Amino acid sequence: MENQTLQYPETKNFIAGKFVPQTNRTLNVVTPLSGGVLSKVTLSDAAELDRAVQAAKAAFPSWSATPIKERVQVFYRYKTLLEKHVKELAQLVHEENGKTIEEATAEVEKSIELTEFACSLPQLISGELLEVSKGVECRVEHKPLGVVASIAPFNFPNMVPHWTIPNAIALGNCMILKPSEQVPISAIRISELLKEAGLPDGVFNVVNGDREIVEAICDHPDIEAVSFVGSTKVAKIVYRRSTSNLKRCVALGGAKNHLIVLPDAHLEMTASNITASMSGCAGQRCMAASAMVAVGPLDAIISKICDEARKIIPGKNLGSVISKEAKERIERYIAEAEKAGAKILVDGRNCVVAGKENGFYVGPTVIDYVTPDMAIAKEEVFGPVLAIIRAKDIDEALAIENSSNYGNAASVFTQSGGMAKKVMEGASAGMIGVNVGVPVPREPFSFGGWNESKFGVNDITGKSSIEFWTKLKKTTVKWNPESKTNWMS
Ligand code: NAD
Repeated sequence: MENQTLQYPETKNFIAGKFVPQTNRTLNVVTPLSGGVLSKVTLSDAAELDRAVQAAKAAFPSWSATPIKERVQVFYRYKTLLEKHVKELAQLVHEENGKTIEEATAEVEKSIELTEFACSLPQLISGELLEVSKGVECRVEHKPLGVVASIAPFNFPNMVPHWTIPNAIALGNCMILKPSEQVPISAIRISELLKEAGLPDGVFNVVNGDREIVEAICDHPDIEAVSFVGSTKVAKIVYRRSTSNLKRCVALGGAKNHLIVLPDAHLEMTASNITASMSGCAGQRCMAASAMVAVGPLDAIISKICDEARKIIPGKNLGSVISKEAKERIERYIAEAEKAGAKILVDGRNCVVAGKENGFYVGPTVIDYVTPDMAIAKEEVFGPVLAIIRAKDIDEALAIENSSNYGNAASVFTQSGGMAKKVMEGASAGMIGVNVGVPVPREPFSFGGWNESKFGVNDITGKSSIEFWTKLKKTTVKWNPESKTNWMS
């Protein structure tokens, strides 16, 4: 396909404040809404990454020496630009990712909230100072690391990059972003708007690519820290490889979130929260409801969930999944569960949207009598599918939740404070919801799971990310010889 026929120009790298032409391999960027080609993306090599790292390295002395109160002024302006361009940015997310315009708008609004948090960093990182002995002071400051990298997945082309960009850069680092090659277009506008907000050239760079560039990031000697968001399989690779190269790394992986529902749960609220959680963003959220653990008789709630699910119309209030392969994978999980004896209550397979016959749609699917040994109960499906597992009591429900390799989120639906507390304390997950289907901690609280949903010490956002993106400088000062003290006195 020639460039003129592409809906968006070829997606180039952004290095030292400019979009740079490449001669590398390219890949078609396909919109999952219709299966059509939107753009082409450059698949860079290690030499191209090195150019970006050198640009970031050159920008670091001046950017890191700029006082943080000045650095955040860029993000005040950038936040205003994001607000001005919400519609356009949401349209891009809709087209490249396939989620609905409403979901894409909510995504960009979350990016604005993340940027707003970065503007508060001067208030949060003011250092510590203490007279530790007569005339002797110790002070502690947060210092930036240098050149850092952020590797992103396909499911939030705008928001996930904002988990890292504003905080890492406001704290004085220079960044290389590697977007998902499936959704690289949003990063173009992010680059342009950061430049328009006054970010100096080289502080933020984008290098597009696939596995080759991720490996090059893990290996590059001048990259100090790597943040990764994606599947657990790749999170493990990135965590192992970058830490073996002595870098800091936080790597967020996949999820299998359990929603435990007790017989006293509020009927309407529970059904609507669970349906929205499993179907929102077509189930392609690491915080999505994937398994509902039904404790005791819950026929009314399950029947209400099915009613709600049947009201969801693919192509209207349900977006597409990312690719043909994703659609096939999700449908395979449903078929295997059916074959293993589960009961399909609402079936979203073979979904075709009129006028978008080549798009990749899966309708909302509810499956009852899933048993914990089935693949659909254990593995990440990443589609609009709810697997209902029956449990006799809360202890059995918690045992099912605890047996998962993942640990991103878990929720409980009940009107009993005591039962809620049991799940809050007993669930093996980093983010817990009580009567909340998608328990994403909003700023200033940090985001990050447990177990195989996250590798590394810190969370990726909020206050926890300050520790990840900075190192502490401890200085001990004595000015007055007449005090006749040494540090011990
Ligand atoms: P993915 O792991 O396939 O890709 C993520 C990134 O890794 C991409 O930039 C990709 O280019 C790169 N990559 C892919 N294969 C690689 C390999 N073999 N070696 C090195 N790099 C490689 O993930 P995805 O399909 O883009 O995103 C969906 C996954 O992300 C789901 O598992 C979802 O749960 C997870 N996710 C997790 C969170 C979280 O907060 N825990 C948030 C969003 C998405």
